[in-house]
Amino acid sequence: RVIMDEFKIEDNISYKNLFKPYGYINGEWIDLPKGKSFNIYNPSTNKIIATMPEMGIDETKYAIESAKIAFDKWKKKTAKERCFLLRKWYDLVLENIDDLSVIMTLENGKPLKESKAEIIYASSFIDWFSEEGKRTYGRSIPATQIDKRIITIKQPVGVSALITPWNFPAAMITRKVAPALAAGCSVIIKPAEQTPLSASALVYLAQKAGIPKGVINLLVANNPIPIGKELCENESVRKISFTGSTEVGKILIKDSANSVKKVSMELGGNAPLIVFNDADVDIAVKETLASKYRNSGQTCVCANRIFVQDGIYKKYSEALAKKVADFKVGDGFEHTSDIGPLIDNSGLKKVERHLDDAIAKGAKVLTGGKQPSLGGLYYEPTVLTEVAKNMVLFKEETFGPLAPLFKFKDVDEVINMANNTNYGLAGYIFTKDLNTAWKVSEELQFGMVGINSGILSTEVAPFGGVKESGIGREGAVEGMDEYMEIKYLCFGNIM
Ligand code: NAP
Repeated sequence: RVIMDEFKIEDNISYKNLFKPYGYINGEWIDLPKGKSFNIYNPSTNKIIATMPEMGIDETKYAIESAKIAFDKWKKKTAKERCFLLRKWYDLVLENIDDLSVIMTLENGKPLKESKAEIIYASSFIDWFSEEGKRTYGRSIPATQIDKRIITIKQPVGVSALITPWNFPAAMITRKVAPALAAGCSVIIKPAEQTPLSASALVYLAQKAGIPKGVINLLVANNPIPIGKELCENESVRKISFTGSTEVGKILIKDSANSVKKVSMELGGNAPLIVFNDADVDIAVKETLASKYRNSGQTCVCANRIFVQDGIYKKYSEALAKKVADFKVGDGFEHTSDIGPLIDNSGLKKVERHLDDAIAKGAKVLTGGKQPSLGGLYYEPTVLTEVAKNMVLFKEETFGPLAPLFKFKDVDEVINMANNTNYGLAGYIFTKDLNTAWKVSEELQFGMVGINSGILSTEVAPFGGVKESGIGREGAVEGMDEYMEIKYLCFGNIM
């Protein structure tokens, strides 16, 4: 059933060592009988890369049971012991960066250089939490009665279910697994159906690092619904951490309500990127390119609506369109490629729907605006002008390489437009004026704001959104707290 042999990328790359087209439960790789399987495709070629077992409710129950048993032992290890194993996992991830990147480009399509950058980013969470796991301090609180003493301690929340998307097949996993394991939780990972091979390769390296059986479990499937329902409804699971669409996030919150689980939700975005008249155009363009076109525009923090003040609009739009027109679209394994394919046909159709709607309502194409001659799932990086608030791309996350440039006159107008969305993940501002930077940062209803910066994700800062973009934070000290409960101890009658 393993058909990876057909895909010979480069003779010197040994990715097959990490190629595990299976699930992983209780320390064992699990396959299922023929017929209970699903295919993984390379979005650049539409060829099948592998088939994997279609897991369901039985495997989910088994994984929960295994994680529950493992949790009792894992939580009793010292933080130092747990963090030592995380450190070994981190080292192995970096040692295998080339192979992991090849697997990622195969199943996600992003250019190899972006896959490598993602593996470094993904590993940074393991590195950071392997340190932070040793510092989960409680507090000593001065009591209000003379014979009382008050302290708090932090304890792991328990079995944690981690459901992740395809756009960052490695980083969205390590950003959850590393703090969970450092805290003393055991985990069940459910990666996206398009990109389970990056997940299984990472799990394999965790196994090699010596993470005990049952502490990490991996469920793979094409149909996530029975798995999601069991993970949400089973009382032994105490935490759901989800990254994906707002629509699915709402289902998971509802399904988790009966057993009152702790939830973290990293959901969709509709990021405004605001360029004021006094901005440095070169910086604004460079950072817009990084924010908008990384991963073919398929990131939750991608600039989705670009607001440009009237005095700089012409200069900025021409400079941006010139750079965008230079991007090379192609297979992620071509060294010249800057922009890979979209993940699947529904991703492509969404970009086309947004473009068609905008054109019908008066938008003009500055560059791009169609599929390149390569066809398939590729789409030309595009810049649109003459866009307006009544277009679908104002309300919905495009998740593709389409940059609409809105024109605005003053600060209050742009703050209103930027906040006119149910989402609240990331926003960006370009200005040299400190007052504008502070005022707008404070008034934007978004969980993260980049000021003269189009990239803000890092393991040391709390990542997350407000409104319908989510609940909770990942990375940083706050990311650790998502996997811990605070217990208050009150000592009385101390003489
Ligand atoms: P998605 O459809 O919500 O899927 C995400 C994950 O949820 C996948 O593993 C999927 O499994 C699973 N899933 C879908 N329906 C489910 C259900 N009923 N029960 C349990 N699991 C279910 O999102 P996507 O299209 O893959 O990812 C793109 C979205 O993620 C965008 O909206 C983007 O903004 C968001 N995102 C947010 C962040 C953040 O940090 N805030 C980061 C990255 C992406 P299948 O693959 O099998 O369907």
